Amino acid sequence: MAIIRNSQSGIGMTSLRTRERMLGRLREQGIKDEVVLSAISATPRHIFVDEALSIRAYEDVSLPIGFGQTISQPYIVARMSELLRNGNVLQKVLEIGTGCGYQTAVLSKLAQEVYSVERIRPLVMKARGHLRELKCANVKLDHADGNMGLSEVAPFDGIIVTAAASHIPQDLLEQLAINGRLIIPVGTEEQILHLVERVSQLEYRQTKLEAVKFVPLLGGTS
Ligand code: SAH
Repeated sequence: MAIIRNSQSGIGMTSLRTRERMLGRLREQGIKDEVVLSAISATPRHIFVDEALSIRAYEDVSLPIGFGQTISQPYIVARMSELLRNGNVLQKVLEIGTGCGYQTAVLSKLAQEVYSVERIRPLVMKARGHLRELKCANVKLDHADGNMGLSEVAPFDGIIVTAAASHIPQDLLEQLAINGRLIIPVGTEEQILHLVERVSQLEYRQTKLEAVKFVPLLGGTS
């Protein structure tokens, strides 16, 4: 039997109820920002994964997207978005590690302008297709090594890194606006989510948050 995929309204497994259950779980896990919760609720996650995996799209797990990479777990997307927003409307944000574009699509509902950088070219193409399908018009994607940030567009009031760095790249610190926030997983074996706030031109405040699990932030492009 052929199942016709209607990506926007969704078939049974992607129904409103399934998505509402996911939101309930996010609340239980401590996500409080209603703006973030409604952005997640309005972003169909099943269109970002292969059809064979779409039955698992609303589970709180990361899933493979090809090229050895993954789509982030809904909880971590919500958590990082909440930390980045900190209750404010965001103007210009930068994401490092677009992957299939799921976090990018959520960010497009939280910020005026979203820039996202990915080092694997076929993933940039894939993400571009998904973001076009969802009509995320305020997003610009770039095929580049995100370790350098995007100096031509800086400063950013938020930078989110969705791959684990061995250290915090200096370029990203420099591209933060005053009062801007950088959210970045740091570590190799054990990774800890870090929040870095730029307090003044020269002063940064760093807070270690929680243990996370991301693919590594690599160098160069492919
Ligand atoms: N934000 C994605 C997560 C994708 S996984 C989501 O919402 O699901 C992390 C991504 O970071 C991978 O696609 C990987 O290729 C990319 N990446 C790793 N190192 C990078 C770098 N230096 N510059 C840009 N992207 C990088």
